Amino acid sequence: MQPVGPVDVLVVGAGPVGIACAIEAQRVGLTARIIEKGAVVNSLTGYPTNMRFFSTPELLEIGDHPFPSRGYKPLREDAIDYYRRVLQREALDVRLYERVVDVDGEAGRFVVHTQSETSSREDQREEQRDNQPDDQPDDQPHVARFVVIATGFFDQYVPLNVPGEDLPHVHHYYREPYRWALRNVVVIGAKNSAAIAALDCHRNGANVTMLIRGGHVSDSVKYWIKPDLENRIREGQIRAFFNTRVTTIDRHRVHFDGPAGAGTVSGDVVLALTGYRPDYSFLRQAGIDIADDDAATPVHDEHTFETNRGGIYLAGTVCGGNNTSRWFIENGRHHARQIAAHIAARAER
Ligand SMILES: Cc1cc2nc3c(=O)[nH]c(=O)nc-3n(C[C@H](O)[C@H](O)[C@H](O)COP(=O)(O)OP(=O)(O)OC[C@H]3O[C@@H](n4cnc5c(N)ncnc54)[C@H](O)[C@@H]3O)c2cc1C
Repeated sequence: MQPVGPVDVLVVGAGPVGIACAIEAQRVGLTARIIEKGAVVNSLTGYPTNMRFFSTPELLEIGDHPFPSRGYKPLREDAIDYYRRVLQREALDVRLYERVVDVDGEAGRFVVHTQSETSSREDQREEQRDNQPDDQPDDQPHVARFVVIATGFFDQYVPLNVPGEDLPHVHHYYREPYRWALRNVVVIGAKNSAAIAALDCHRNGANVTMLIRGGHVSDSVKYWIKPDLENRIREGQIRAFFNTRVTTIDRHRVHFDGPAGAGTVSGDVVLALTGYRPDYSFLRQAGIDIADDDAATPVHDEHTFETNRGGIYLAGTVCGGNNTSRWFIENGRHHARQIAAHIAARAER
C-alpha cells in the first residue's frame, strides 16, 4: 500500500501531551501529524463523568493557550472542550480512530502501520471488548522522520487474575453511580479511582463494600478525599475489609481471603479499580526496551526523551511505566518543548 504523505514528526496519541508535542513541533518549523486510536483526549472521555481535576486550569494549559474555567478546578468536560479547541485552533493534522500497531524503518524514514478502529473506547467498554483492534485490513502506512509515542497508560487495567473477572457485572472503569442505587456494590482497591467511586456510589444510594489489599486506604489518595473515605468507613456507612485478597468473583458474590480466613460479600456490581499500566506489548513492538526496575520504565533519555531506538521519543505519562503517578498533565506537558528542540536540532543536520 502507498504510504500517506510524509511528515517530520508523527505523534502517537492525542492526549494532552501528544497534542502539546504536535504544537511545539510545528512551532519549531517541523510538520507534524497525530494518530489517535480513539477520540480527541480519549483517556479523558473515559474518566468519571462529573470529575473535577485536582489541578488548577493554568497548570493544564498547553501551547500557551489560556484555559478559561468558571471553577477554581476545571471539570472533565471543561478540559475535553479546551483540548479540542486548542487542537482546532492550531489546525493540527490529526487522524482519529486509527491505531498505531507497528513502526518499521529507522530515524529519517519510519514507516508507521495503523489499523482503523470503528468504535470508541467507551463503546468498546460497554461491549466488554476493551483494546480489541477491529478486524480491518491495514490502513495506508504513514512515513515520518521522527516518532513521538505519547500513549499514556489508561487503556490497560491491571488485572486481578482471578476466576470471574470477565463477568459482565465486573467493571474496570468507573463513570457514574446512578445505575447502582440500592444495589450491592463491591469496590476492589483503595487508591484514588477506588476511593472516588466508593464515595460517589455511597452518596447515590448504593450499599458499598470495599475490599482492600493493604492495611489502610492508600496514602496516594488526594488529601481532601482520604479523610472523607476514612470517616465513612469509621462510621460504618461504607464497609471495608483490609488485608484481603480477592480469590473468585461469581454472579452474586465476591470471595476473598483475609486475616480471619476466607470471606464472602454480596456484589450485584463489582468495580475492580486496581490501577492501569502502559501498553507494554505496543512499546516492545515499537522496539522500545523496558528497564529492569520496579516501575518497568520504558527506556529513554531523561533530558531528550529519545528512546533506545534512535529517532523514537516518549512523552507524557508513558515515560513513568508502571509508576503512573510520576508524570501527569502538569509536568508531562513540558516534555513537548524539550522533544521539539531536540528533534529540530537533529533535523537541521
Ligand atoms: C480521574 C483522573 C483525574 C486526573 N486529574 C489530573 C489533574 O488534575 N491534573 C493532572 O495533571 N493530571 C491528572 N490526571 C492524569 C492525567 O489525566 C494524565 O496524566 C494525562 O491524561 C496524561 O496525558 P498523556 O497525553 O500522556 O496520555 P493520555 O491522556 O492517556 O493520552 C494517550 C492517548 O494515546 C492514545 N493511544 C494509546 N495507544 C495508541 C495507539 N497504539 N495508537 C494510537 N493512539 C493510541 C489513547 O487513546 C489516548 O488518547 C488525572 C487522571 C485521572 C485518571
